[in-house]
Amino acid sequence: MLYVKAPAKINLTLDVLYKREDNYHEVEMVMTTIDLADRIGLALRQDGKITLSSTDQFVPVDQRNFAYQAARLLQQRYGITKGVAIKIEKEIPIAAGLAGGSTDAAATLRGLNELWELNLSIDELAELGAEIGSDVPFCVYGGTAHATGRGELIREIPAPPSCWVVLAKPKVGVSTADIYGGLNLATVEHPNTIEMLQAIDQGDYKAMCATLGNVLEDVTLKLHPEVVKIKTLMERSGADAVLMSGSGPTVFGLVDSELRVSRIVNGLRGFCDEVYAVRMLGERHSLA
Ligand code: ATP
Repeated sequence: MLYVKAPAKINLTLDVLYKREDNYHEVEMVMTTIDLADRIGLALRQDGKITLSSTDQFVPVDQRNFAYQAARLLQQRYGITKGVAIKIEKEIPIAAGLAGGSTDAAATLRGLNELWELNLSIDELAELGAEIGSDVPFCVYGGTAHATGRGELIREIPAPPSCWVVLAKPKVGVSTADIYGGLNLATVEHPNTIEMLQAIDQGDYKAMCATLGNVLEDVTLKLHPEVVKIKTLMERSGADAVLMSGSGPTVFGLVDSELRVSRIVNGLRGFCDEVYAVRMLGERHSLA
């Protein structure tokens, strides 16, 4: 069995620029991987079949699964006759704004490149990933990136200044389509992506905290007061900056002292079941 780590991402910025003629939104984001990860196990099957299992009953174990789609795409594109048994050990909360499905697909692409001896470059894997979902190319590379287009155009940037990330996922279901639908591009306050890129370049933790921004946050906060509550709790218990990731509902706080991390985690207990304290990963994955 080959095991591949599939880390979640957070958005340090998420901006929506306009709606394109192909109906996708043109976005601009700064994303980084965090040490909250699923584990993907891949075992070779000689019969050509792709099978799936997961430790989480809410993960679909059929063609809807992005990891399945990744394996199928590789088989079809390169005429592969070998199969694979995919096992997803789920740690990343589902439908949370942390790209859980996309990172599973990306890890499957990286792992099968090795298991099926395809010798594809990381750029080729990322390009294939874009056919599965806009966040998959970023997850193929990992690390930290400035993403444009519909999110699939990736430019690597340096790792952000080191800090802790406390995450809390309120128990609400957020529909990404509803959030984009509720977005009024004429009135939103756009994050300052250029300032974020400078802050990261200069390793300036305070400037990074001051520049966090997500254009979707207000929409989600208006629809889900539970998310506001978690945000306020994190701010009050001492996070340096707090933001919602993706279209939510997960909220994360940046913290540069370990002592405050435990205070914040304790403060959230009782209000939220799913709380994590992790480090940023910062650097890109390397291909085996
Ligand atoms: P994003 O941040 O990219 O918007 P997300 O973190 O909000 O994604 P996911 O965890 O990827 O959301 O789940 C979205 C949907 O994708 C789920 O409802 C689930 O049915 C489906 N899905 C497909 N493959 C997977 C997978 N491997 N893990 C989790 N969900 C998956």
